[in-house]
Amino acid sequence: MADCLFCKIIAGDIPSNKVYEDETILAFRDIAPQAPTHILVIPKVHIPSVDGVTAENSGVVAHIFEVIPQIARAEGLANGYRVVSNCGPDAGQTVPHLHFHILGGKQLALEMA
Ligand code: AMP
Repeated sequence: MADCLFCKIIAGDIPSNKVYEDETILAFRDIAPQAPTHILVIPKVHIPSVDGVTAENSGVVAHIFEVIPQIARAEGLANGYRVVSNCGPDAGQTVPHLHFHILGGKQLALEMA
């Protein structure tokens, strides 16, 4: 998508601090980290949010969840980590390209809302 920030990162038009990449997904460090480790994992195909996941495109989401534990291990998050996806305005989603936050490296607050 021409106007999508994360599509521009995938295309290499905007730089990112990559931690993992394959044919279908990309992971890079969040520019404004909320924890000592804060990584975003995104599909290369443009899906606007969790709300856009369907039977046709859910394979890439499954793949993301296969890779997340590998990234967590590589980052040394042996004591645990959180995976978050904000979906839509009420959840505070600011970039309309599906992404999963990996947060860790400290004891995270327990508030969910
Ligand atoms: P969300 O608010 O859930 O949509 O998450 C979007 C995330 O993207 C935020 O945590 C931002 O800090 C992060 N972000 C925005 N622009 C960039 C960028 N150029 N590189 C890395 N992370 C970014």
